[in-house]
Amino acid sequence: MATQKVLIISTGGTISMVKDKKTGALRPADFEEFKSFIPELGATDIDVELHPIVPFIDSSDVDPDMWSQLAQTVYDNYDKYDGFVILHGTDTMAYSASALSFMLENLNKPVVFTGSQLPIGVPRSDARENLQTAIEIAAAIDEDGDAIVPEVTIFFEDRLFRGNRTTKKNAEHFFAFKSYNYPHLAQAGVHIHYFPHVIFYCDKRQPLRLHTAIDRNIAILKLYPGITKQMVHAILHIKGLRAVVLESYGAGNAPSAKWLYKELKDAVDKDIIIVNKTQCMAGSVEMGRYQTSINLLNAGVISGHDITTEALVTKLMYLLGGLGTDTPRVKELLEQSICGEMTIE
Ligand code: ASP
Repeated sequence: MATQKVLIISTGGTISMVKDKKTGALRPADFEEFKSFIPELGATDIDVELHPIVPFIDSSDVDPDMWSQLAQTVYDNYDKYDGFVILHGTDTMAYSASALSFMLENLNKPVVFTGSQLPIGVPRSDARENLQTAIEIAAAIDEDGDAIVPEVTIFFEDRLFRGNRTTKKNAEHFFAFKSYNYPHLAQAGVHIHYFPHVIFYCDKRQPLRLHTAIDRNIAILKLYPGITKQMVHAILHIKGLRAVVLESYGAGNAPSAKWLYKELKDAVDKDIIIVNKTQCMAGSVEMGRYQTSINLLNAGVISGHDITTEALVTKLMYLLGGLGTDTPRVKELLEQSICGEMTIE
């Protein structure tokens, strides 16, 4: 069997940080320091190459330009490698993985995000295991030579998740991520067990298509008891606003105050797209189930079903970036699962 080739694209994050000798604070390692901590890279039968995106950054500094750069790097190297591993800080990893799942249409090779809770150079670090397993998953092929997991994923601790279904849930535990509404795609123990029935496969005959246009003119409006009309009004009147993620209660419920309904309806009438996303981690929006969500339906708010905030934010940016002012088409695609990001009952 030919040797599998994997490209590791490194952006920074804790996985590539070291303790500064002078200050004792964590700072991004330079590329040479980083390589010195993972001699194992040369010891597998997978051919691994490193592509650093420098300077390394904390993922709190990641923005859509970084998503475009990452997607472009995968696209440019697509034919040269069998799979890709992206080293990324954990804080915004779920956003980046979601964004790439939309930007890389017809993906037929693995793109595995991973990171760590402890820096690569410290004792007990989870970095090496996460990295080694992510490389193995990125290189894994079936008996026909096809990639086993040809989607954008996140590998952390012992599980492989669909990227656009994942949320960071813990700032301390090694088990830092969870996919609340979709099963994990693989489990790593002594062996790596893959679950093909839940993996997303797209049409192999279609070529990879890159989409890097992003529209950042969106906002998140989180409801809470006592929310004021001024606050809602201010958000819905942001200049240039195109779409709002409305974080509602439970199965998609909101206060029944008339002013709220009117503010939302006025915004929809001005062509602003409002998507209802529950504040609950698990479960789905079901508008119309309770009286308290009927107002939202009547105002023209659309359902986000069981999508994560990370996937919804990036899906909106991607759709608005690509489709511009074609609001009906954006709304149509928001009601569809493009690459497994939500379950439509
Ligand atoms: N602040 C870090 C980052 O997201 C945390 C981590 O990598 O775990 O870049």
